[in-house]
Amino acid sequence: MSSTSTAPQLDAVVIGAGFSGLYLLHKLRNEMGLSVRVFEAGSDIGGTWFWNRYPGARCDSESYVYCYSFDEKMWQEWEWSERYPQQAEVLTYFDHVAERFDLRRDITFNSRVLAATLDEAANTWTVRTDTGEEITARYLITGVGCLSAWNTPPFPGLETFTGQTYFTGLWPHEPVDLTGKRVGLIGTGASGVQTMPRIAEVAADLTVFQRTPNYIIPARHGKVPPELTAERKRDFAGVWERTRNGAFGLPFQPEPKPLFESTDAEVEAVLEKWWETGGLGFLLGSYLEPIFSVEANQRISAFLDRKIREKVNDPAVADLLTPKKLTYAVKRPPLDSGFYEAFNEPHVHLVDVGSNPIAAVTPDGLRLTDGTEYAVDVLVFATGFDATTGTLNRIDIRGREGQLLREKWAGGPRTYLGLMSAGYPNLFMITGPQSPGVLSNMPVSIEQHVEFVSAIIGTAAERGAEIVEAAPEAEDAWVVHNEEAANATLFPLADTTYTGANIAGKVRAFLPNIDTVPGYRARCEEVAANGYEGFVFTPASATAPA
Ligand code: NAP
Repeated sequence: MSSTSTAPQLDAVVIGAGFSGLYLLHKLRNEMGLSVRVFEAGSDIGGTWFWNRYPGARCDSESYVYCYSFDEKMWQEWEWSERYPQQAEVLTYFDHVAERFDLRRDITFNSRVLAATLDEAANTWTVRTDTGEEITARYLITGVGCLSAWNTPPFPGLETFTGQTYFTGLWPHEPVDLTGKRVGLIGTGASGVQTMPRIAEVAADLTVFQRTPNYIIPARHGKVPPELTAERKRDFAGVWERTRNGAFGLPFQPEPKPLFESTDAEVEAVLEKWWETGGLGFLLGSYLEPIFSVEANQRISAFLDRKIREKVNDPAVADLLTPKKLTYAVKRPPLDSGFYEAFNEPHVHLVDVGSNPIAAVTPDGLRLTDGTEYAVDVLVFATGFDATTGTLNRIDIRGREGQLLREKWAGGPRTYLGLMSAGYPNLFMITGPQSPGVLSNMPVSIEQHVEFVSAIIGTAAERGAEIVEAAPEAEDAWVVHNEEAANATLFPLADTTYTGANIAGKVRAFLPNIDTVPGYRARCEEVAANGYEGFVFTPASATAPA
């Protein structure tokens, strides 16, 4: 498709071989006939599921909608074994996808992209990897995921620890045997909450170091009744219509009767129903008012406070596990498969490192600020990620006039639709900052972005354009819109990965877009219907040097 004398080696380079990269490769190469190379830091496909192999790792979206929908036959044929997909099963699914569409031959593994530089004369990107490879492409598309730059808090003395250290986001491929060990687990987000009961099953002693309590909803994991699976399979169109139209890309609609018009008994019945059903339906199928109203938030929080007290025998431990500040709905609720119950075991302990922070790692374990020491054989870090912007900012991306993307974003990310940043032509981000991303069921947002980006690239070819870029004024308006939309909710008030507050020193900015998955898609469709307004297409002749 390239047409100039300085034609690049490839039409497109894609970074990452997870959900985004695999679909991009299929779409651009198999359907559009472009030349594409995918660079992947891991030794195989899978993205986040390649790295996060910790005991208990499983997705909180239900299997039947945590997958691709672009190929109905593949969706019909694939059989998930359980309600929530286990990490290894997601990798098996990716294997199937890669085989089916012959993807591996254009993926270069064990290659981390370190830098990408725009050549303004040639209108190409030069991509450099940690293996020393350099390649040029017309388009550069990042499929790096929102949660792939893991966070190791800079505790002094980490290197002095004489035991074993593991990170949930970087778990070894070989089996890790924690049987009979004294384990210290730092972090009680989705990863920590998932792995904690699995570690408690085998460890001699487990101490959980919790900085901030969260509300944790029962997963109620298990087998899916075959008749339910059959019913879903008969209703492919309905399943995906409901999923794409759910606020967060999951097949839930909130209760039709608003919270404030409901009696206490009605609210209680709705919450009990979802508590028993388990899963993210508790949040998304009940009431969305807690996202906007402190009073509504407190009403649901009171229900959950009571549940914690019912599950945890020791009132002091239950109290420590109970959030004291705005948390419900504005912080991602982890799903629980035995977390609260494990604290009733005599060998499981909870330590509050919110009021008494971890001061240092010692040769034997951890020391807190007040001097208390904890001796452990193993430290497990479930301390999360530099979310949404972290992975992009770790790559040396230089656009027009050599501007570094992370410097442009020093005050917070600036994008148009979360897809492009002005000054970085032909660089697209799949689920980039200021798109729904982490506020959605990722495969749904990924498919929408891959299809939208492919359509833009196809439109550029039709228009004879060598360059597509976001107009600065479109970007300015999107940044303002995002801030306003976020400020209409309670989200910005909480210290979360959404606001960047989980990472010491990270600038506070609301990172995802809060228009909801269908709202955001409608905006993209409107942009397309208006001739891709906000995107500037420049033909090759207009960009040639004089
Ligand atoms: P996370 O939600 O950011 O949790 C990190 C935990 O580490 C938090 O409890 C945090 O405390 C704690 N922490 C961080 N720095 C600390 C420090 N210096 N001292 C003490 N504690 C510290 O990370 P995550 O659990 O890996 O989950 C991240 C996201 O990944 C989730 O929101 C979800 O989107 C995704 N995820 C999904 C699944 C799933 O679907 N099952 C599983 C895992 C992850 P604070 O709360 O005080 O920051």
